[in-house]
Formats: sequence, C-alpha cells, structure tokens
Amino acid sequence: MTYNQIPILLSIAGSDPSGGAGLQGDLKTFSAHECYGMAVVTAITVQNTTGVLKYTPLEANLVAAQISALLNDLVPNCIKIGMIGTIDNALAIKQSLKNYPYDLVLDPVLTPTQGISLSSTGLENALIDSLIPLSRIVTPNIYEASVLTKTPLAKTTEEMVVQGKILLNYGAKAVLVTGGDLSGPPVDVLIEKGKTQNFIGERVNTRHTHGTGCALSSAIACHLAKGAELADAINLAKHWLSSALCAADGLKLTQGRGPPNHFFEFWN
Ligand code: PLP
Repeated sequence: MTYNQIPILLSIAGSDPSGGAGLQGDLKTFSAHECYGMAVVTAITVQNTTGVLKYTPLEANLVAAQISALLNDLVPNCIKIGMIGTIDNALAIKQSLKNYPYDLVLDPVLTPTQGISLSSTGLENALIDSLIPLSRIVTPNIYEASVLTKTPLAKTTEEMVVQGKILLNYGAKAVLVTGGDLSGPPVDVLIEKGKTQNFIGERVNTRHTHGTGCALSSAIACHLAKGAELADAINLAKHWLSSALCAADGLKLTQGRGPPNHFFEFWN
C-alpha cells in the first residue's frame, strides 16, 4: 500500500465553536483544497459570530503531546499555526517542531476582529523569539504587524513593507502583511530577502469575513504542500478566498459576522 496519496495538513490553533475561524475553519479550508486535515487544539474559545467572549488555553504539555503523537505517525506535508494563546504554548510548539522538515505557515493571531484578546501578555515576544524564526511564511494583518514590530499601525503599503522587513529580520523566510483592513482595494505585500511584491485584490462587499485570516493562511499552506512556489500559493489562495467571500452571503447563516463559504465549489 502506498501512503500519502493526498497532502496531509495540520493546523495548530484554537477552537472556534462557531465553525468559521480557528481549527474548524482551517479543517474546512483543508478539505476544500482536497487535503487531509488534522487539528491540534491549543485553546478552547467561547464565541459566536458576534465576537469572542472568553478562552481557556490548554496546558503546554498537552499541546506538545498532541503534536508528538502525530509526528510519530501521520507526518503532515505542511503545518499552519494560528492562535497559540500563551507563551508556554509557543515554547512547547517550538520544541515539538524543531526537527520538522517541511514548511511552517504562521498566522500570528493576537486579537480577533470582535471581542476579547486571544493572547496572553507578551505572547508577541515569544512569537518573535520562538516561532517566527522557524517559519516559511508569517501572515500578519496590519494590527498584528504593528504589535509584533512595536511600531504604529500602517496606513500605507509602504509602511506595511517597512514592518514586513522588520519581521523578516526576526528570521522568517517570508512575510505577507495583509492590507484588507485598510480602505480601498485590498493590497497584501510579500516581503522576502531582497524583494517585495504586491498582491492587489478586489474588495468583496460582504460583512461575512469572520475567519478570513485563518482561511488565507490555511489555503497558502495547502498550495505549499502541493508543491506550489510561494507567490503562486498566495495568488491561488487569494483567488479562492475572494470566491469564498463572494459566496458568503448565500449561506444566510447569521445576523452576525459569518464566515466565508469554504465549500462554494461543492455546494449549490
Ligand atoms: N477565533 C479563533 C480561534 C481564531 O483563531 C481567530 C482568528 O484567527 C478568531 C477567532 C477571529 O477571527 P476573525 O478576526 O477573522 O473574526
């Protein structure tokens, strides 16, 4: 029997019981990309589509044990890291992944769009010291980039590039600062050693954007696992996310801020 017929993806992230972001959103994204998805829980959140109310992190040794059990058995072709919650979890994840041979995609989740913070005090420093240096790509939005670089919120793509370069100097191989929270057409900026590239999207008119950061980073991870070059992986992921956002209103799920339709290609 031949193993690994389809790419295996692992998300290390928090649980979002509303199903749009976090582990649940990541598993949907993996499935929509015809990848086999696995999920290591770092924290239980209490939330719905109107915001995050509270969270409880898991003990770091339990997070490490979940990762170690998987890496001894079902080695993923790419790992996406999202909400970590605590400094201890960041250190445990770093320790567990130090010999992992494939790409890590780090979405440095700190604060949700609605509700309370998803990170303990000082987590940004632990990300800088422990997980950013291991990452193939880090995908902060402008708020996360501002906290991680300890500089004011970017108002232009030029300022996003400056912040991306600071994050690159922390040891990531690439940084994608996502600019969807600025007004105008959404521009994401990819910063790599010696070059930058802008990815210009079209703004989709929907309020159902819950979990878009999780979906983008997970989709990039799927394309990297399938062997795409980084810029192609980003283009494909952005194109897929735009279509999922265009189809979001059609889900008619909630009066709140619902998720994109991860399965727009499969459901009528
Ligand atoms: N809950 C979890 C577990 C998350 O990981 C995230 C974002 O990464 C969110 C909630 C918030 O998602 P958003 O800000 O897109 O609503």
